[in-house]
Amino acid sequence: MSLFRRKKPDAPPPPPPTPMVEEVTAQQYQLKLAFMGRSSDGLRMPADPTVVHALPHIVEPLSSTPVEVLAPLPLEYSDAAPAIERFNEMQQWVLARRDVSPIGRHALYVLELTDTLDMTVDTFACGLLHGETDTSGYPDYQAIVGGLASHFDELSGELIVRAVVGWGGKGQRGDTERIGRRLLSSLYQQVRATGHSLGAAAATRATTGPEHGGSLCAHCGFESGTDAFYCPKCGMRMGGRGA
Ligand SMILES: [Zn+2]
Repeated sequence: MSLFRRKKPDAPPPPPPTPMVEEVTAQQYQLKLAFMGRSSDGLRMPADPTVVHALPHIVEPLSSTPVEVLAPLPLEYSDAAPAIERFNEMQQWVLARRDVSPIGRHALYVLELTDTLDMTVDTFACGLLHGETDTSGYPDYQAIVGGLASHFDELSGELIVRAVVGWGGKGQRGDTERIGRRLLSSLYQQVRATGHSLGAAAATRATTGPEHGGSLCAHCGFESGTDAFYCPKCGMRMGGRGA
Protein backbone atom coordinates (compact mmCIF):
# COMPACT_ATOMS: atom_id res chain seq x y z
CA MET A 1 0.00 0.00 0.00
CA SER A 2 2.66 2.53 1.08
CA LEU A 3 4.89 1.52 -1.81
CA PHE A 4 2.05 2.12 -4.27
CA ARG A 5 1.32 5.61 -2.84
CA ARG A 6 4.92 6.72 -3.03
CA LYS A 7 5.40 5.59 -6.58
CA LYS A 8 2.22 7.01 -8.12
CA PRO A 9 3.05 10.76 -8.58
CA ASP A 10 6.48 10.45 -10.11
CA ALA A 11 6.12 7.30 -12.17
CA PRO A 12 3.09 7.30 -14.44
CA PRO A 13 2.64 4.08 -16.33
CA PRO A 14 4.19 4.25 -19.78
CA PRO A 15 1.69 4.69 -22.62
CA PRO A 16 0.82 1.54 -24.48
CA PRO A 17 2.87 1.12 -27.64
CA THR A 18 1.19 2.68 -30.67
CA PRO A 19 0.04 -0.04 -33.01
CA MET A 20 1.29 0.10 -36.56
CA VAL A 21 -1.20 2.07 -38.71
CA GLU A 22 -2.50 -0.45 -41.15
CA GLU A 23 -4.59 0.51 -44.16
CA VAL A 24 -7.87 -1.38 -44.01
CA THR A 25 -9.78 -2.38 -47.05
CA ALA A 26 -12.59 0.17 -47.42
CA GLN A 27 -15.05 1.42 -49.97
CA GLN A 28 -15.99 5.07 -50.32
CA TYR A 29 -19.45 6.27 -51.18
CA GLN A 30 -19.87 9.82 -52.37
CA LEU A 31 -22.59 11.92 -53.89
CA LYS A 32 -22.05 15.41 -55.20
CA LEU A 33 -25.22 17.44 -55.62
CA ALA A 34 -25.23 20.91 -57.06
CA PHE A 35 -28.28 23.16 -57.34
CA MET A 36 -28.37 26.53 -58.97
CA GLY A 37 -31.05 29.19 -58.79
CA ARG A 38 -30.91 32.55 -60.49
CA SER A 39 -33.30 35.47 -60.07
CA SER A 40 -33.56 38.74 -61.93
CA ASP A 41 -34.13 41.98 -60.08
CA GLY A 42 -37.77 42.70 -59.44
CA LEU A 43 -39.93 44.69 -61.82
CA ARG A 44 -42.73 46.78 -60.33
CA MET A 45 -46.12 46.30 -61.95
CA PRO A 46 -49.61 47.54 -61.10
CA ALA A 47 -51.46 45.20 -58.72
CA ASP A 48 -54.18 44.73 -61.27
CA PRO A 49 -55.88 41.31 -61.64
CA THR A 50 -55.39 41.41 -65.41
CA VAL A 51 -51.62 41.85 -64.92
CA VAL A 52 -51.57 39.01 -62.36
CA HIS A 53 -53.40 36.72 -64.77
CA ALA A 54 -51.13 37.70 -67.66
CA LEU A 55 -47.95 36.39 -65.98
CA PRO A 56 -48.40 32.68 -66.92
CA HIS A 57 -49.00 33.72 -70.54
CA ILE A 58 -45.67 35.57 -70.56
CA VAL A 59 -43.91 32.31 -69.59
CA GLU A 60 -45.84 30.16 -72.09
CA PRO A 61 -43.84 30.89 -75.29
CA LEU A 62 -40.58 30.06 -73.48
CA SER A 63 -41.82 26.84 -71.89
CA SER A 64 -41.87 23.45 -73.61
CA THR A 65 -44.54 22.23 -71.14
CA PRO A 66 -47.87 23.73 -70.03
CA VAL A 67 -47.25 26.53 -67.52
CA GLU A 68 -48.24 25.66 -63.97
CA VAL A 69 -49.18 28.35 -61.44
CA LEU A 70 -47.97 27.44 -57.95
CA ALA A 71 -49.66 29.40 -55.19
CA PRO A 72 -47.92 30.50 -52.00
CA LEU A 73 -48.24 28.05 -49.13
CA PRO A 74 -51.54 28.05 -47.25
CA LEU A 75 -51.23 29.12 -43.60
CA GLU A 76 -51.47 25.60 -42.17
CA TYR A 77 -48.39 24.59 -44.19
CA SER A 78 -46.35 27.74 -43.59
CA ASP A 79 -43.33 25.75 -42.32
CA ALA A 80 -43.25 23.44 -45.34
CA ALA A 81 -39.75 22.95 -46.80
CA PRO A 82 -38.36 20.35 -49.21
CA ALA A 83 -35.55 19.17 -46.89
CA ILE A 84 -35.79 15.47 -46.18
CA GLU A 85 -33.95 15.56 -42.83
CA ARG A 86 -36.42 18.11 -41.46
CA PHE A 87 -39.19 15.63 -41.33
CA ASN A 88 -42.06 17.79 -40.07
CA GLU A 89 -41.35 20.49 -42.66
CA MET A 90 -40.99 17.82 -45.34
CA GLN A 91 -44.33 16.23 -44.42
CA GLN A 92 -46.02 19.62 -44.70
CA TRP A 93 -44.34 20.17 -48.06
CA VAL A 94 -45.53 16.82 -49.40
CA LEU A 95 -49.08 17.56 -48.27
CA ALA A 96 -49.03 21.09 -49.65
CA ARG A 97 -47.52 20.08 -52.99
CA ARG A 98 -48.99 16.63 -53.61
CA ASP A 99 -50.96 17.78 -56.68
CA VAL A 100 -48.07 19.61 -58.33
CA SER A 101 -46.61 18.09 -61.53
CA PRO A 102 -43.12 16.48 -61.49
CA ILE A 103 -41.73 19.55 -63.29
CA GLY A 104 -43.29 21.98 -60.81
CA ARG A 105 -42.12 19.86 -57.90
CA HIS A 106 -38.55 19.73 -59.24
CA ALA A 107 -38.66 23.51 -59.75
CA LEU A 108 -39.86 24.12 -56.20
CA TYR A 109 -37.27 21.69 -54.83
CA VAL A 110 -34.34 23.40 -56.57
CA LEU A 111 -35.54 26.97 -56.08
CA GLU A 112 -36.68 26.60 -52.48
CA LEU A 113 -33.51 24.77 -51.42
CA THR A 114 -31.44 27.59 -52.89
CA ASP A 115 -33.73 30.29 -51.37
CA THR A 116 -34.43 31.66 -54.84
CA LEU A 117 -38.14 31.44 -54.04
CA ASP A 118 -39.93 32.22 -50.78
CA MET A 119 -43.14 30.26 -51.16
CA THR A 120 -44.67 31.75 -48.02
CA VAL A 121 -45.43 34.78 -50.22
CA ASP A 122 -44.37 34.05 -53.81
CA THR A 123 -46.73 32.94 -56.56
CA PHE A 124 -44.75 31.05 -59.20
CA ALA A 125 -45.74 30.50 -62.83
CA CYS A 126 -43.33 27.84 -64.06
CA GLY A 127 -42.52 25.35 -66.79
CA LEU A 128 -39.70 23.34 -68.34
CA LEU A 129 -37.64 25.91 -70.23
CA HIS A 130 -34.85 23.70 -71.56
CA GLY A 131 -33.84 20.04 -71.61
CA GLU A 132 -35.48 16.71 -71.01
CA THR A 133 -37.40 14.76 -68.43
CA ASP A 134 -36.92 11.10 -67.50
CA THR A 135 -39.59 8.49 -68.22
CA SER A 136 -41.50 9.45 -65.03
CA GLY A 137 -41.61 13.08 -66.09
CA TYR A 138 -38.96 14.48 -63.74
CA PRO A 139 -36.44 16.93 -65.25
CA ASP A 140 -32.84 15.70 -65.29
CA TYR A 141 -29.97 17.69 -63.78
CA GLN A 142 -29.22 19.63 -66.97
CA ALA A 143 -32.84 20.60 -67.60
CA ILE A 144 -33.68 24.22 -66.80
CA VAL A 145 -36.94 25.04 -65.06
CA GLY A 146 -38.22 28.49 -64.31
CA GLY A 147 -40.72 31.23 -64.92
CA LEU A 148 -42.04 34.28 -63.09
CA ALA A 149 -42.27 34.72 -59.32
CA SER A 150 -44.43 37.49 -57.93
CA HIS A 151 -45.39 38.99 -54.59
CA PHE A 152 -46.83 42.31 -53.47
CA ASP A 153 -44.69 45.15 -52.18
CA GLU A 154 -45.41 45.69 -48.48
CA LEU A 155 -45.29 49.48 -48.69
CA SER A 156 -46.70 50.35 -52.12
CA GLY A 157 -48.91 47.32 -52.75
CA GLU A 158 -47.46 47.04 -56.26
CA LEU A 159 -46.81 43.65 -57.80
CA ILE A 160 -43.09 42.76 -57.77
CA VAL A 161 -42.27 40.33 -60.58
CA ARG A 162 -38.99 38.42 -60.87
CA ALA A 163 -37.71 36.14 -63.61
CA VAL A 164 -36.40 32.95 -62.01
CA VAL A 165 -34.54 29.92 -63.39
CA GLY A 166 -32.99 26.88 -61.75
CA TRP A 167 -31.34 23.54 -62.44
CA GLY A 168 -29.23 20.92 -60.79
CA GLY A 169 -28.95 17.52 -59.18
CA LYS A 170 -26.46 14.74 -59.68
CA GLY A 171 -24.23 16.36 -62.23
CA GLN A 172 -23.36 19.51 -64.12
CA ARG A 173 -22.94 20.50 -67.72
CA GLY A 174 -20.77 23.28 -68.99
CA ASP A 175 -23.32 25.09 -71.11
CA THR A 176 -26.27 24.98 -68.66
CA GLU A 177 -25.15 28.18 -66.95
CA ARG A 178 -25.00 30.06 -70.25
CA ILE A 179 -28.40 28.80 -71.42
CA GLY A 180 -29.85 29.57 -67.98
CA ARG A 181 -28.66 33.18 -68.16
CA ARG A 182 -30.10 33.56 -71.63
CA LEU A 183 -33.50 32.21 -70.54
CA LEU A 184 -33.53 34.48 -67.48
CA SER A 185 -32.86 37.46 -69.69
CA SER A 186 -35.62 36.42 -72.14
CA LEU A 187 -38.16 36.10 -69.33
CA TYR A 188 -37.21 39.50 -67.94
CA GLN A 189 -37.40 41.17 -71.34
CA GLN A 190 -40.81 39.61 -72.00
CA VAL A 191 -42.15 41.16 -68.79
CA ARG A 192 -40.78 44.55 -69.81
CA ALA A 193 -42.24 44.13 -73.29
CA THR A 194 -45.78 43.98 -71.85
CA GLY A 195 -45.50 47.72 -71.29
CA HIS A 196 -47.01 47.35 -67.80
CA SER A 197 -43.71 47.59 -65.97
CA LEU A 198 -43.40 50.65 -63.71
CA GLY A 199 -39.65 50.27 -63.27
CA ALA A 200 -37.13 48.36 -61.17
CA ALA A 201 -38.01 47.35 -57.62
CA ALA A 202 -35.82 48.45 -54.74
CA ALA A 203 -36.17 45.17 -52.88
CA THR A 204 -35.89 42.04 -54.96
CA ARG A 205 -37.39 39.59 -52.51
CA ALA A 206 -40.15 39.99 -49.96
CA THR A 207 -38.78 40.91 -46.55
CA THR A 208 -40.32 38.04 -44.64
CA GLY A 209 -38.48 36.74 -41.62
CA PRO A 210 -38.98 34.05 -39.00
CA GLU A 211 -39.99 36.70 -36.46
CA HIS A 212 -43.70 37.43 -36.30
CA GLY A 213 -45.74 40.20 -34.80
CA GLY A 214 -45.42 43.05 -37.33
CA SER A 215 -48.72 43.08 -39.18
CA LEU A 216 -51.47 40.54 -39.60
CA CYS A 217 -53.44 40.25 -42.83
CA ALA A 218 -57.16 40.17 -42.13
CA HIS A 219 -57.81 38.59 -45.55
CA CYS A 220 -55.42 35.63 -45.75
CA GLY A 221 -54.04 35.48 -42.20
CA PHE A 222 -50.44 36.10 -43.26
CA GLU A 223 -48.22 37.49 -40.49
CA SER A 224 -45.57 39.87 -41.73
CA GLY A 225 -42.36 40.38 -39.78
CA THR A 226 -42.37 44.06 -40.65
CA ASP A 227 -44.92 46.85 -40.35
CA ALA A 228 -46.44 46.28 -43.76
CA PHE A 229 -49.18 48.36 -45.33
CA TYR A 230 -49.98 45.68 -47.87
CA CYS A 231 -49.92 41.91 -47.53
CA PRO A 232 -46.99 40.52 -49.59
CA LYS A 233 -48.95 37.31 -50.11
CA CYS A 234 -52.43 38.44 -51.19
CA GLY A 235 -51.85 42.15 -51.85
CA MET A 236 -54.73 43.37 -49.66
CA ARG A 237 -54.41 46.25 -47.17
CA MET A 238 -53.05 44.97 -43.84
CA GLY A 239 -55.50 45.44 -40.99
CA GLY A 240 -53.91 43.98 -37.88
CA ARG A 241 -51.79 46.85 -36.63
CA GLY A 242 -53.36 48.44 -33.56
CA ALA A 243 -56.81 47.67 -34.95
ZN1 LIG B 1 -53.00 38.58 -47.11
